[in-house]
Parts: sequence; structure tokens; C-alpha cells
Amino acid sequence: MALLKKRNELKEKYVNLLEYESRLAFQAFYKSEPLPAENIEIDDVELRRSWAGKVLRRRVRRLFRRSDTAAAERRADLRIGIPRVLNLYSTAPLFRTYFESLGIPSENICFSPATSEEMYREGAKYGSIDPCYPSKVVQAHLHYLLTRTHQPPEKPLNFIFFPAITHLPTFVAPVMDSATCPIVAGTPNVMKAAFTKEVDFFAERGIDYVDSAVTLDERAYFKRQMFEIWGERLSITEDESDFAIDQGFEALRRFNSEMQRRGLEVLERVEGENKLALLVLGRPYHADPGQNHGLPEDFQALGYPVLTIRSIPKDTAWLARWFKEDNETGATEGPLDIRDVWPENYSTNSVQKVWGAKFAARHPNVAVLDLSSFKCGHDAPTYGIINDIITTSKTPYLAMHDLDANKPAGSQKIRVRTYAYTLQHYQEMLQDRAARMSELERNVARRRQELVAARQASFSSSSERIEMEQAFQAYLAEEEAVLGIRAEDLQKTYPSLPPRFDFTADVAPLPPEIHAITGWQPGNNHSRGCSDCASSCSCGTSNRATVAI
Ligand code: SF4
Repeated sequence: MALLKKRNELKEKYVNLLEYESRLAFQAFYKSEPLPAENIEIDDVELRRSWAGKVLRRRVRRLFRRSDTAAAERRADLRIGIPRVLNLYSTAPLFRTYFESLGIPSENICFSPATSEEMYREGAKYGSIDPCYPSKVVQAHLHYLLTRTHQPPEKPLNFIFFPAITHLPTFVAPVMDSATCPIVAGTPNVMKAAFTKEVDFFAERGIDYVDSAVTLDERAYFKRQMFEIWGERLSITEDESDFAIDQGFEALRRFNSEMQRRGLEVLERVEGENKLALLVLGRPYHADPGQNHGLPEDFQALGYPVLTIRSIPKDTAWLARWFKEDNETGATEGPLDIRDVWPENYSTNSVQKVWGAKFAARHPNVAVLDLSSFKCGHDAPTYGIINDIITTSKTPYLAMHDLDANKPAGSQKIRVRTYAYTLQHYQEMLQDRAARMSELERNVARRRQELVAARQASFSSSSERIEMEQAFQAYLAEEEAVLGIRAEDLQKTYPSLPPRFDFTADVAPLPPEIHAITGWQPGNNHSRGCSDCASSCSCGTSNRATVAI
């Protein structure tokens, strides 16, 4: 009980924004605006071809097109399953809001739970993919949706939606491309093969598996793709689909803005108190506790708040303070540019990791925990770049580049302890330096904090802040399990049963007990060397003795 209490207190004192981000991403925190009525006029662009084949555009005003009431009623009964994996960790608010805007109830949008060892053991036997754990574990999540979430006849799943995300928007600019890892983009299709090869698990259950490709960094194209995917399936009009996409992007904006507001709070606090925060450089799905092996929690327990790349404020005016030198030397075009260290940047999650390293290298109160999955081909080119940045700045750094299904608890503990020792020394050094600060410097720091508080307030409107505050309080109030045990488990009374003996235990069987030997008579006088009376002795029995068991 004491451990549970301590765990929940820690959440508030040293906030773990990786954990919060992983919860918030899958929560219904944004109530989308209602679909416009049929008599509402909207702006549109009409396209037609001239006689010479040229595309002509004309701005028009027309009425919003709505689907009929019967279609809307049907949508209210649909249930959609989505695996909690890969880049859904950064895009789930968009997809959830899309479906909610179209009238699918929030509780009918079902995400599989976070990865656990039991889930993996139970559902990862359809093996057809073996590059890295984040992609391998997907089959366990689909298995969970098929066998647990799909509960006919009362609660069947109508669809499992696992989009093949090929491109993701990024805050890093400019970039050569915003592609996702090919493994991420290909896994939905590979999973389809795994679950339909011998038996079609989806057809058997009447579930429509939707694994179409989507490109999130071109909104107009993405709108077209989503309408092609869902138009007929949900009986919606293109206007409805487009409206729902805009609502989805608004949810994503609020998600990012909330994380940045929390991140700014942490950064200002550690700077004011001359302490350290730990920035996790990882891919969005390293927020999954089954992928990060609880490493961020270990550091949180040692008193270090945890930051994520998403939670670092991206306001260029705020960042200018840390990237001042780069601007002055002209090495980059702004604080969100990474071409000075990686000109050939093309992968969204990779460039964001490199940018995170650049930020940590410039902020004295930020240390780094770099997480990568074993066999990650997309992280490999960033190892050297991140290492160079961090080594040059002498930022405290721990790399865990081989995360896999197995949790090496012993070696992990040693590495956490060793790094914690480094962090402690670094923090003491920060405090020594602060003690030598002059009164003028202290006043400047105080004034700067006031300005930052004002900037923080500008990140979101007051109604948005109230909504997000509720989400954060719900996260704090949510009880955390310790070793899978919750307070309610400790209050239960368990019947005391006699111990159960497992007769199938893996131990060598006892030798058979010999209790009758044909022909053996008590009192027979066996002599030395008389084994089964094979040799001549005076016992007088047959030498073909049998053993009865
Ligand atoms: S980026 Fe790395 S960890 Fe992520 S899916 Fe690709 S190979 Fe796997």
C-alpha cells in the first residue's frame, strides 16, 4: 500500500510527461464541434477542364452536403478497434476525433491496451515479421482486438482500423521529406497477411480490416484518402469527411499545445530550482511502457521529471534564447532547423530525435535518455549524429539502444543507478554555480520567469486550458499499479485453499516400484551373483523373472 501511495505522489511531484503523453493520446479530451447543418453555406473551389485540357478553378459558395438520418443512426451503433501501436501514439487524437465528429460514440472507438508481457505471450504466435519489437508486438494487439474487444453479439467490432501511415507532419523545418519508417508503413499490410494466410480471422468474425495508406503531411490529399477509405463504409458525404478531418487536426493541435505547456512548466521549474529534467529521445511508441521497460519511471522515482520531444515548446521566440549562437553564426535558418548537423534529413521521427538532442545540448537543465529498439534501421543513422552533439556539449547522456521483448532487469538496474550517480553530480554542479550568481542575475532570472508565465498562458485559450486541466487532473487521479497490483487488489479477501500440487511438474519420475517378481518366494536362498536368478544358485527360481508395476 505504501508503495502504491508513493508511486501516485511521485506523479505529481516529478511529472512523467512520457506517461502523460501516452495516456492523453488515446483519451477523448476534445469535444468536436457538431457537423454543420444542411442549410449552412460553405466556400468551395469548382474544378473543370477547358477545351484545351487546362484545369480551371472557380471559387463558389454552396450548401454543406449531409448524409441522411438513417446513415447517421447506423453510425451510432458502429464499433471500431484500433491497435495502440507505432505512430498511432502520435496520431490517435486525430483519428479518434475524426470518428467522433461523424457520430461514432466515444466509447465505441476502442484502442487495445498498452503492451504487456502477457499480451505478447498470448497473441504473438502468428509470426510473420521480425525486424524490431515495436512492429512484432502489433500482432499481439490485433489478437487482443479480435479476441477480447470483439464481443459479439452485444459488442462486436465492425472495423479494425490500422492505417499504413506513410508521411507524418513535423515541426522541424526545413526538411527533405517527412516520411515514416518503411516498417511502420508496411506493418498493417504484413499483419493482414499474418491474420488471413491460413484462416481469415477477420472474415470469420465479420470484421472489416482497414489498412489503407494515408499521408498526413498533405491535408488536402489526406482528406481525399480518408473519404475514399470511409465514404461508403460509414455512408458519409465528402463534406462531412472533410469537416471531421479538420476537427481531427484541431484535436492534434490541442494535444501538442497541452504537452508543450506542461513541458514549459517543467523546464521553468528545473531552471528556477537549479535541478535536472530528463528528456527522452525516442520514437512516439517508446511511450508504451511495454516498449520502454519502465526506464523513464525509474528516473522519475529518483526525483527527475521526464520530458518528451513533443513537450518541448516549439515557439521560436522562446527557443531563440537557446539557439542564439546558431542564429548569429548563420549555421541554421532558425531554431527548428537541423541541417547544420544532418542535411539529408527525410524521416519525421528521426529528425525530431536529432532536434531533441540539439535542444538538450543547449539547455543546462536537461539530461538525455536515448531509447532505441533492437534492430531499428531508422535509428542507426542518428546514433553518430546524436553522440557527436551530446559529446560536444557534455550533456549527461544514457543510451539504451537495444530495447526488445525481454526486459533485462538486472543490467537495467545497474545502468539506471550508474546514470543516476552522474545526474546527481551534475545537479550539484548546477547548484554550486547558482550559489555564485550575483543579485543582478537573480533579478533577471525572476523577471524572465514572469515573462515566461505570460507566454505560457498564450499557448491556449482559457476554455481550452480548462479542458486540458481536467485531462491532466484525471491523469493524476488515475491510480498507478505497482507490479500490476492496485490498491483494490490489496483490499480483496482471497479464500485460503489448500495448496494445489502440480503433477505435471517438470521433475524426473521416480523409478517404478517393484512389488512382485514371478517365482520369487520368501525364504529362497539367493547367493552372490544371483540377479533375477540368471546365474545358477540354489534359490531354485526361473531366470525369466517379470516385473509387475
Ligand atoms: S523506426 Fe525502428 S523501431 Fe520503429 S518500426 Fe522502424 S525499424 Fe522498428
